[in-house]
Amino acid sequence: MTKSDHSQRVDVSEKGYVYIIGAGPGDPELLTIKAERALQEADVLLYDDLVSGELVDQFQGIKIYTGKRKDSHHFEQDEINSEIVRHALMGKKVARLKGGDPFVFGRGGEEIEVLRKNGIRYEIIPGITAAYGASAYTEIPLTMRKISSSVAFCTGHPVNKIQVPDADTLVYYMVASTVHDVLDAVVSKGRSENTKVAIVQNATRYNQKIFTGTLGELRRREKAVYSPALLIIGDNINQFIEKNWFSGKRKVLLTGGDAKRYNAMEHIMVHFPCRQVDGADRERVKEYFDDFSPYSTLLFTSKFSVKYFFASLFEYGKDVRHLAAATICATGKAAALELQKHGVIPDLFFEPDGCADIVTMFRERGMTDEHILLPGSNLVDEYLVRELTTLRNRVTPLCVYMHEAQEHAESIDLAFIDEIYFASPSCVNNFRTLYSSIPENITVTAADTRTEKEYRSLFGES
Ligand code: SAH
Repeated sequence: MTKSDHSQRVDVSEKGYVYIIGAGPGDPELLTIKAERALQEADVLLYDDLVSGELVDQFQGIKIYTGKRKDSHHFEQDEINSEIVRHALMGKKVARLKGGDPFVFGRGGEEIEVLRKNGIRYEIIPGITAAYGASAYTEIPLTMRKISSSVAFCTGHPVNKIQVPDADTLVYYMVASTVHDVLDAVVSKGRSENTKVAIVQNATRYNQKIFTGTLGELRRREKAVYSPALLIIGDNINQFIEKNWFSGKRKVLLTGGDAKRYNAMEHIMVHFPCRQVDGADRERVKEYFDDFSPYSTLLFTSKFSVKYFFASLFEYGKDVRHLAAATICATGKAAALELQKHGVIPDLFFEPDGCADIVTMFRERGMTDEHILLPGSNLVDEYLVRELTTLRNRVTPLCVYMHEAQEHAESIDLAFIDEIYFASPSCVNNFRTLYSSIPENITVTAADTRTEKEYRSLFGES
């Protein structure tokens, strides 16, 4: 590295750096590759209401929610601005994550003004705005040869500022409480009552919902519209909108494990909001980390067991060299990939279909008389421990993180779900803390017989 390279780097780290990022409209896969890279680098993530917790949870940085959920502190824009500046001035890399695109009704313009004033370097990473998401996921082309040659993005809020531009396709943001005012304004501007209208709620998410009609019909219909929703007006709205490619997919609620048995062409995977959090008993973890020599095998059965194990390892000033004497096993691709992130290729790896398979693997490989350290959550898999012990192994479960079902805001609306996949008995248990019953039309799939048994006992199936 040359001298000037070096001084330039020091300069960046002294004043921090801010990424203003558009997260897209909801489907976590609509994040750009650039946004993903920036989020991986970020020390601090400040995210809004429209950004899903599921998306944010994938990244390591400290997360600060700046939205308006009832159970948390309400941030005003000034406060958000100063929070961004505060972290940047501490030399942090800050990711400011907004729903859709930061420059489409996103107040990104105000945030960069503040950054400029404070001499903080930044860049802007565009996102897929809600209009593009809704358009693609409902099959409404925003422009269409011979039918629509212009499109305008407008806002339905505040009600006294509703504008009706002279464009063929009109897309209104922020309409949940003003749909009728917007429709009235459009008619009074001379648009025919036969013009087609679509209201798209939760575009690109598993719970996307569409209402259609003509301008005249929807004006007369009293229908509650829930945020986030977009109103699209124009004759490019076609007849197959309600039976589109997205609505045709099976929505599968995944309570744990990974989605390998489902293919993306037919399914939409919805992740059960289960949060993995730090919070293990530090003193106890530290004791185990003082000396690894008693263990001949380390068994990682999930991505999170790896993630939190290594976080503790580094916290106590150690690294992979301290694990060199043990055989490292990983079950499941996610655990193996996470190990690779920490520079470890597992000695033993395989894809189990439930815990029973892990036991079979140990049996087939003649792995007995091992002392196995099993990092995991507060929900110890008693079955796995018992069965591995039956094979004459000694098993020491170590809680490195806590597993909590998340209540409130992000719970899943089962009315949109076609199938639930239970990955283990503890997943059934977690699910039961939030839902007392499962609607009859939902197919339930259990990973193995133990899980199936737990499901029957908790949900009263014969
Ligand atoms: N910057 C965002 C818009 C923020 S304003 C963007 O580019 O999309 C908030 C409004 O965006 C909501 O009131 C709603 O009208 C719209 N919106 C955001 N996400 C949406 C979604 N998934 N489905 C429908 N409308 C959405």
